[in-house]
Amino acid sequence: MVLTHIAVGMALSLPVALLAPEFGTVAAIGGAIGGIVPDIDLFVGEHRRTLHFPVLSWPIAIAGCAITLAVPSSLAVVVSAALVAAAVHSTSDMFGAGTELRPWERTNPNAVYDHLRERWLPARYVVRYDGAPEDLALTVVFAAMIAVSLDGSPRWIAVAAVVTAIPYVVFRKRLPEYFEKIL
Ligand SMILES: [Zn+2]
Repeated sequence: MVLTHIAVGMALSLPVALLAPEFGTVAAIGGAIGGIVPDIDLFVGEHRRTLHFPVLSWPIAIAGCAITLAVPSSLAVVVSAALVAAAVHSTSDMFGAGTELRPWERTNPNAVYDHLRERWLPARYVVRYDGAPEDLALTVVFAAMIAVSLDGSPRWIAVAAVVTAIPYVVFRKRLPEYFEKIL
């Protein structure tokens, strides 16, 4: 779920906080942004295809990190952290379920679109569906890493991710009914 991607994206920024503490907060914010952005294609375009690039995002993310190491600045750190988090988000969607309203039914094996090979990557179901209990466990672990390591806005974003994730996980299987009523 997007809340897990936010927590993971922020946790990826922790090495920055260790090596260059002055950039720790901006890196975490960039990680949160990159964790969210791919899932905007839930509302615009085709979900897990329009803004998800599980292969092509990596060279761009690596180039962004190289530029940031060469010419560090807050802007470079926030952009490269967002690029890395978006790349990890797109790739890790493959370890969940397919793009369907009730992913626990496993009727659609398409997890995320690989624009390079022009085909869908199959769902691996390591996390059985978005909003599964194991998904919440991941959110809690990564958010806790942020909450104990950083203060200020990253800590509050991490806490908010967990607080929002709990009701989402509790009501996840009832959501399709609700969406069908309003659509
Ligand atoms: Zn996604």
